[in-house]
Amino acid sequence: MIPGLFSYHRPATLADAVKLLSTFGDEARPLAGGHSLVPMMKLRLATPEHLVDLQAIDGLKGVCRDGDRIVIGAMTTQHELLGSEDIAKSLPILHEAALLIADPQVRYRGTIGGNVANGDPGNDLPALMLTLGASYRLEGPNGAREVAATEFYQGAYFTALEPGEILTAISISAPPANHGYAYEKLKRKVGDYATAAAAVVLTMASGKVASCAIGLTNLHETPLLAAEAAKVVIGTSLDDATLKKAAAAAEAIMSPAADARGPVEYRKHVGGIMVMRALTRAASRAG
Ligand SMILES: Cc1cc2nc3c(=O)[nH]c(=O)nc-3n(C[C@H](O)[C@H](O)[C@H](O)COP(=O)(O)OP(=O)(O)OC[C@H]3O[C@@H](n4cnc5c(N)ncnc54)[C@H](O)[C@@H]3O)c2cc1C
Repeated sequence: MIPGLFSYHRPATLADAVKLLSTFGDEARPLAGGHSLVPMMKLRLATPEHLVDLQAIDGLKGVCRDGDRIVIGAMTTQHELLGSEDIAKSLPILHEAALLIADPQVRYRGTIGGNVANGDPGNDLPALMLTLGASYRLEGPNGAREVAATEFYQGAYFTALEPGEILTAISISAPPANHGYAYEKLKRKVGDYATAAAAVVLTMASGKVASCAIGLTNLHETPLLAAEAAKVVIGTSLDDATLKKAAAAAEAIMSPAADARGPVEYRKHVGGIMVMRALTRAASRAG
């Protein structure tokens, strides 16, 4: 399939990119790695008249520290995340999840910014961002603002990004060194989007869960934070009955689409199983 006609722009500065996006309004889209946008254009599900490529803009790539926060440039590729020692050490769940995205070819081009800004419920990183309490730096015609990941996702492909705004960086407070983590993803085959996936970050004290956050991928039109399920496990030693209760609490907020990955009841059921597996594996890794 061949996309419709479009004009290609390659600004050298963020200010120029914002100006182009503001000038062309709804007819323009930022282009990052192109591994979600270009397939959508080929299928004519997206028909932007102007693509504003962010590749030539300095300062949008890389991983750095800002106090106890880890700041990741939006144009950092998924492959570069996997190569970062800081991510592997401080945010190992991001390393684990990035490795489960598609295949190396996609990860060489696909960016963290494109993955989280896309608004596709099937993308793996948004639920992770909710779990980690990330915030997004957005820059647009009215200046810069920070938006919590929990406030960003409003519907399928519908986010808090205003016209002309660009996601420039993602900022995450590093969890304690002794935290446990796991990203459990059920997929039909290697390289597929999730049928259901769950992210867990927790801490343990004296054999009991002291803190916990649980995120869900592809089980609703937006990524979900399963707050009730997390509450259920706090103060417990994650016995079988508690795990089942947590899965039930998570299933109660799931409303996946019935599609080629399975009917609604099946996807909710396996979603609950991903929650139980992620909790168990995270606890086994906690110090
Ligand atoms: C075969 C295949 C399998 C895949 N499997 C998975 C998978 O298992 N899990 C998964 O999570 N993803 C998967 N993906 C998607 C992949 O991770 C994409 O790279 C990612 O979703 C989008 O990142 P990108 O940099 O390619 O963004 P693009 O495709 O360039 O952009 C995506 C959208 O985000 C917008 N955008 C991009 N960057 C910004 C920015 N900085 N600010 C504002 N808006 C922006 C664009 O305008 C566009 O609307 C797969 C893709 C393919 C082709």
